[in-house]
Amino acid sequence: MPPTLSTEILVIGGGATGLGAAWDAALRGYKTLLVEKGDLTHGTSGRYHGLLHSGARYVVRDPQSAADCAKENGRLRRLMPSAIEDTGGYFVALDEDPPGYVEPFVKGCAAAGIAAAEVSPAEARRAEPLLTDRLARAFHVPDAACDSFDAAHLVSNGITAAGGEVWLRHRLARLLVEGGRVVGAELERASDGERRTVLADLVLNCAGAWAGQVAARAGCEVRVTAGKGTMVAMNYRLVNRVLNRLKPPSDGDILVPVGTVAVIGTTDIKVENPDQYAIEPWEIELLMAEGAKLLPRFREFRALRAWAGVRPLYDASKAGQPAESRLLTRAHAVLDHAARDGVEGLISVVGGKFTTFRLMAEEAVDLAGVKLGTQRACATANTPLEPAATRHHVLRGRLAASEVYPRPALVCECELVTREEVTGALTRSQSPVLNDLRRDLRLGMGPCQAGFCAGRAAALMHAGREPEPPVAESNSTLLEFLQERWKGLRPVMWGANLRQMELDLNIYRNLLGADRLPTARPPETYPTEKTA
Ligand SMILES: Cc1cc2nc3c(=O)[nH]c(=O)nc-3n(C[C@H](O)[C@H](O)[C@H](O)COP(=O)(O)OP(=O)(O)OC[C@H]3O[C@@H](n4cnc5c(N)ncnc54)[C@H](O)[C@@H]3O)c2cc1C
Repeated sequence: MPPTLSTEILVIGGGATGLGAAWDAALRGYKTLLVEKGDLTHGTSGRYHGLLHSGARYVVRDPQSAADCAKENGRLRRLMPSAIEDTGGYFVALDEDPPGYVEPFVKGCAAAGIAAAEVSPAEARRAEPLLTDRLARAFHVPDAACDSFDAAHLVSNGITAAGGEVWLRHRLARLLVEGGRVVGAELERASDGERRTVLADLVLNCAGAWAGQVAARAGCEVRVTAGKGTMVAMNYRLVNRVLNRLKPPSDGDILVPVGTVAVIGTTDIKVENPDQYAIEPWEIELLMAEGAKLLPRFREFRALRAWAGVRPLYDASKAGQPAESRLLTRAHAVLDHAARDGVEGLISVVGGKFTTFRLMAEEAVDLAGVKLGTQRACATANTPLEPAATRHHVLRGRLAASEVYPRPALVCECELVTREEVTGALTRSQSPVLNDLRRDLRLGMGPCQAGFCAGRAAALMHAGREPEPPVAESNSTLLEFLQERWKGLRPVMWGANLRQMELDLNIYRNLLGADRLPTARPPETYPTEKTA
């Protein structure tokens, strides 16, 4: 049994909220450890829409949330410019949209401090040539695109630079509760199941849609509704600005340019289990139809893949208790379990948005300071994060780097990922999982969806590790990587994508016999004769 460790603040969850909280705590000088059961952004933060909200989306329904987004939008641009693309955004009302929404929208933007400037439909169409001519009104707002993988790496580096630690692939197995106080946790390492005890003065539960499960380990009830949202990435950057429909928020009303693609989303459906949900055919049809309302030629372009994430929606109606007042005006909540449930040493941070993660973290660590009796000022608002070494969504730099002689060997042609980048990322992350490499480098995220790069990357991973892992282990990571790609391709299986899938299937199933390889774990969802 490894020795027991101790820390002041233990953060559960390596999504935006947990990363923000650990960064904030470490900067305030607390001894901080963050644990995440998967990779960085393994949960919702790696499956979101990619929009750094200006706040305009919420001005009518949730003004507090709008004001929070507006403030944080400006701050995050200063703190992590390398993760953010200043695309700007348009809110556009089509002739079918309710004209009565425009006035409260304009007033709401003014009240929340959001610079919304009306532009003529002709000007909007000049800037976005694919935009429909059924435009009634258009407003420019300071929306932007934010790459959550880049952002997560930046914040993670910020945590370690401030003296904190980040343990990936460590799952919270048990909260240690003594005399009504959470005093630490038992953590399980994914690679070998080894358990380790960490004593903590305070545990911050930042487990997103899983926060209810974590709180339950201390006997506390936190109702988190998992709201599934589906998105479709189109294989072209169809717009240069974020397009939002100027009407009450609904399904498929936002199109975000993210690097070389454009993402239409989302839906919002309550699911029972944040680990088990399916993308329904009607969701894809609805998103494609809504996309075509904004851009009439939308369906002429190739839908590259679909994916879904689960919103951690906080339901304040704890059995027998009235809703907490802050929830009435805010979309996130910081729960003090001592005041709420009589359990000391545990704070849960739930709800919110990616855009507001820094603010949520600040509020959570403020409360942690009160609990620990050592209040210290928050420094995150004024501490810029170092530029990212790797910018995931900017192919231009990669293209220039690959146009030299001798040409670097490319592992993934679609995303221009070189052999050197793969081996470098492997050394840095020490992760034996191809899906982690995908998040680090965008490996396999282009049009062929890993058809050509998966085998090469798996070979590099296998041969590049000391000691060389069992072949069955490497086969498993390859198949799990292909499964993940396959999951996203299946819902958009028509036209060029269908042909691409046939090609990928033939390479891996018929040529390489991937579905018959010895594996360390059962490749449950990899396309077999039956499922294909
Ligand atoms: C479809 C969709 C689109 C969205 N689009 C936007 C958008 O465009 N802009 C925006 O600002 N917001 C958006 N959001 C909201 C935003 O993505 C989320 O609010 C935010 O990412 C939540 O971050 P989080 O850290 O709280 O949760 P998560 O990112 O889910 O992080 C929680 C982490 O906890 C880990 N964990 C769980 N249990 C354990 C355990 N036992 N041990 C260790 N680790 C554990 C999980 O693996 C996970 O990584 C969107 C949400 C959805 C669903």
